[in-house]
Amino acid sequence: MHDILPEDAGLLEHIVEKAKKLAEFYGYSPIKTPHLESAELFLRPLGETSDVVEKQMYALRTRGGDFLALRPEGTAGIMRAYQQNGMSSWPQPVKLYYEGAFFRHENPQRGRFREFRQFGLEMLGDQDAALDAEIIKIFYLALSELGFKNVAVRINSIGDKECRPQYKKELANYYKKKFNYLCKDCKRRLKDNPMRMLDCKEEECLEHKAGAPQMINHFCEACKNHFKAVLEFLDEAKIPYLLDHHLVRGFDYY
Ligand SMILES: [Zn+2]
Ligand SMILES: [Zn+2]
Repeated sequence: MHDILPEDAGLLEHIVEKAKKLAEFYGYSPIKTPHLESAELFLRPLGETSDVVEKQMYALRTRGGDFLALRPEGTAGIMRAYQQNGMSSWPQPVKLYYEGAFFRHENPQRGRFREFRQFGLEMLGDQDAALDAEIIKIFYLALSELGFKNVAVRINSIGDKECRPQYKKELANYYKKKFNYLCKDCKRRLKDNPMRMLDCKEEECLEHKAGAPQMINHFCEACKNHFKAVLEFLDEAKIPYLLDHHLVRGFDYY
């Protein structure tokens, strides 16, 4: 964790302001959720062991015995807020933006801190591919307007509950054959969440990635059409993209 001194704090605000303006232009409203959430929010329904949670995030027990976690990202808290505040009865889609500090306890990757700032968008209650593309477009425009050159989007789809289970099985079968060569975490992930193995940064695991089965070959009809439509919207908006078959959310509980 670190201090953000005046010069950097000003730059940070400039970046956030740019992103906020674009988000508001596209009809997104601000939401602020607590920094602390019940740790159970991040436990998978099947019961993730608590040491996994504690390794990836800052978890603590209060004097009253509550098990809490410092929020590691924004989506889970917003999904909770959507449910608890009856937002599903609001006009859909509900389009939200958020910004603030997030916390991760696992070994930070290069250039990252354990407390970090993030700006994010959530669009809930609508399946329109145009809205998925709109989210990508907002971030693309924000980076471009901030002066970044040659920005390209890396994109993937992880399917849905129709087609993902079968893909996960194939992925697990593939990695089972390499079991002895995998890192300690991936040996566990093979059981819990094989898709997360695609995101592993350990050297022994990287070399098996290229040959791994790809979601794109396992899409159901609906996912195939949806993904294709998102890409067509990006084409239309002239946003350059690369298909990245290994792009998955970097959290075991997803
Ligand atoms: Zn690994
Ligand atoms: Zn599907």
